Amino acid sequence: MKAAVMTEVGKPLEILDVDIDDPQSREVVVSVKASGLCHSDLHTLKTDFGWPVPLVLGHEAAGVVEEVGSLVTSVKVGDRVVGNLISSCGECSRCRQGYPTMCSNPDAIRRPAGDRPRYSMNGETVTQIGDIGGFAEKILVHERNVVKVDDAVPFDRAALLGCGVITGIGAVKNVAKVQLGDTVAVIGCGGVGLNTVQGAALAGARRIIAIDLQPTKLDLARRFGATDVINSGTEDDVVGRVREIASEGGVDHAFEVIGLEATAQLAVELTRVGGGTYVIGKVKPGSGVQLSADDLLRGHKKLKGLFMGYTIADLDIPLYADLYQQGRLNLDDLVSETISLDQINEGYEKLESGEIARSVVVFD
Ligand SMILES: [Zn+2]
Ligand SMILES: [Zn+2]
Repeated sequence: MKAAVMTEVGKPLEILDVDIDDPQSREVVVSVKASGLCHSDLHTLKTDFGWPVPLVLGHEAAGVVEEVGSLVTSVKVGDRVVGNLISSCGECSRCRQGYPTMCSNPDAIRRPAGDRPRYSMNGETVTQIGDIGGFAEKILVHERNVVKVDDAVPFDRAALLGCGVITGIGAVKNVAKVQLGDTVAVIGCGGVGLNTVQGAALAGARRIIAIDLQPTKLDLARRFGATDVINSGTEDDVVGRVREIASEGGVDHAFEVIGLEATAQLAVELTRVGGGTYVIGKVKPGSGVQLSADDLLRGHKKLKGLFMGYTIADLDIPLYADLYQQGRLNLDDLVSETISLDQINEGYEKLESGEIARSVVVFD
């Protein structure tokens, strides 16, 4: 099968022929129909995070189940599914408490070391990012790595439910637990940030303040429910402006969705007494975000890191698909353009330039 393969950090992806194994007992083969371009894959492409190469990127995939292993019970051939990159065993204490993103044994659903690889090229093992590897004509994954969705959800929309949507809305719904009437600030309005804004709107936040450098993204943020926007490139006093809009010294919930130390620290400053700061962006390892003694003692502030919005994929993905079908969740405006697999490097360049929310690779 054809797949976009990273052969070296910093080099463009190459479209190569990759051999795919047969599904084992609880594995499924999915014919991929759409696969979104997410920022975190761009980071993987540019920065060495230690991923073994060759590596198939892409972790926002949707498609149709083509083949199932003998013990698969959750899906059947012909089902429309979304890839779920939150690998979890389902049996450890965190899984049973309802926190699969904190699973202590995600290896349980991977093939053991020494077993035949799922993918290979000329005998060499090819790794799939996030246990998905969605920039390929097919994916071979554990059944826990897919979630069935309604056939009426278009593939290019469904794909986004695999990462950007669940991360953004999950942060609001599952982690911050935003209430009707709360105030919210979101720093960074890419694919995840727009969904954080949208989640806050669904929760009934009173003020939703979107902050970004790009006017086009701020316009988009308004479409997703932002009540106020701040261009941090032209506004000298972002903190003052937020305090003015939210009143009472800041917002109840400040979300950082870029992954920079400075903006994470800004999010702390935007948070009012008793409020919470949530760092969704992938801040560089080794850097830090601080709560001062004042923030803690007089501020009663909380600072929280999170991964994938504490999503429980088989509950949350069908929920968001349902809200989309009812016209209450906006996925349409997230898809800036659809491209072919051959155009993937250009797609990443556009994503990097910040001019678009999401490109989605579609397969015939
Ligand atoms: Zn992602
Ligand atoms: Zn677990």
